[in-house]
Amino acid sequence: MSSTGKKILGKVFICQQDNRLQLVEIEFDNIIRSIRPLMNGSVSWNDVKTEAGRKNFTVQLPAISPGHINGNCLLAIPGTIDAHVHFNTPGFEHRDDFEHGSAAAAAGGVTTVIDMPCTSVPPVTSADNLKIKQKTLENRSLVDFALWGGISGNTFNGEFSAEKIITELADAGAAGFKAYIISGMESFPDLTYDQMIQAARFVRNTGRLLAVHAEDKIRVKSREEEFRKQGRDNWQAYTEMRDVEAERVAVRQLVEICHRSGCRIHIVHLSSGKAVEIVRQARKEGLPFSAETCPHYLYFTEKDFERSEIRAFLKTAPPVKSEKDRKMLWDALVDGTLDFVTTDHAGCNPEVEKNSEKFSEVYGGIPGVEHRVPFLFSEGFHKNRLTLQRTIELLAENPARSFGLSSRKGFLKKGMDADLVLINLWSQEKITAEKMHSKGKYTPFEGYSLTARVEQTFLRGRQLLGNDGEPLPEYGYGEWIKPVPTV
Ligand SMILES: [Zn+2]
Repeated sequence: MSSTGKKILGKVFICQQDNRLQLVEIEFDNIIRSIRPLMNGSVSWNDVKTEAGRKNFTVQLPAISPGHINGNCLLAIPGTIDAHVHFNTPGFEHRDDFEHGSAAAAAGGVTTVIDMPCTSVPPVTSADNLKIKQKTLENRSLVDFALWGGISGNTFNGEFSAEKIITELADAGAAGFKAYIISGMESFPDLTYDQMIQAARFVRNTGRLLAVHAEDKIRVKSREEEFRKQGRDNWQAYTEMRDVEAERVAVRQLVEICHRSGCRIHIVHLSSGKAVEIVRQARKEGLPFSAETCPHYLYFTEKDFERSEIRAFLKTAPPVKSEKDRKMLWDALVDGTLDFVTTDHAGCNPEVEKNSEKFSEVYGGIPGVEHRVPFLFSEGFHKNRLTLQRTIELLAENPARSFGLSSRKGFLKKGMDADLVLINLWSQEKITAEKMHSKGKYTPFEGYSLTARVEQTFLRGRQLLGNDGEPLPEYGYGEWIKPVPTV
């Protein structure tokens, strides 16, 4: 068992800038104590691209002593943050739970997750409920976690004012606020646009961001009704009712709400090019407006619903869009329109909930927390869409900044938590459901060939994966992180 005594991680590459690497040794206990270069200057990725190129960097290591780990010229990156997961504890644990979800996170190079408020019971819509969740999770997570607060239709219908509820949630340590323009969850109703602007004004005063699921309810519901009358209940009907226009209308409204409230508004799981253009314009105008996307929107298109073997696994809301949308999402990652990449990890038992003939009855959710890091290195960095630096920003630095975690998390720097991930960029591995650690084992990425692999994950100095690469069952090592908003 690893301790949190002083260790030296020798001979690892770190990203210096863009696609340049520096060979270093990192001294750490629970925090990073020093990062010392082992060679003069840096090398370009092209020089170490091949296995032979990597092995060329033989440097004299200090005598191996206990606590001295040979990094084998792997790439060390800061522990990454997945700001959008549904691990369902306490609540819908027949689908997934924090033990499984956090083990999957550790295996996938994620050291901090931010768990959504809507898939817990009780939903995290009050300071008391946040404390219940935090207490419940005390011995149940392998990775560090922050918690989203939620604003639902019920926030406006209770005994206390929405302002009081939101302020107390922020004081209790909510990392941000999540709300829906359209929600399928009885326990977490959506907001009208009028309620959304009120919510935004209250959230603004807390310095947190308001994250919104953005698909226009009127459009989706009216088409749903129309298709129901026509007896259409298949993937085509689903993608038609939740189309680009549904997202575009909602995102437009949210820009207006951002403008009028001055609140930081963040669009979760952005799926379309049209919406990208609106976000880009809003940011150009200086509005505090941001957005994220997820691996499935970056890889699949609606044509993939024709593949019956992954059709149900690919269902999520909003659904994936066209090839053009997919391309525009990549462009938006490159030019900074999109701030970071999350997974919207939401699993279930596929035999029970991904099995219906009626597409409307298929559970919508993809458990992806384990695949995001190797996916972005494979599909982004290795395919020359993203620089190494940008890849790390999207996985770690930007979410750390957005959620007030950057005093401890997201950066490879002296004094930060020793959250480190060792990435093998010279490796081939197929994604299979069988190898997954979340409770529900299924993925639309089945058979996808990753070209990067997470070899080891350290959280506050402690190794989370055994020598066989399997997560160690140290549930409870993961701690609740209370954000320190800088705004
Ligand atoms: Zn979600």
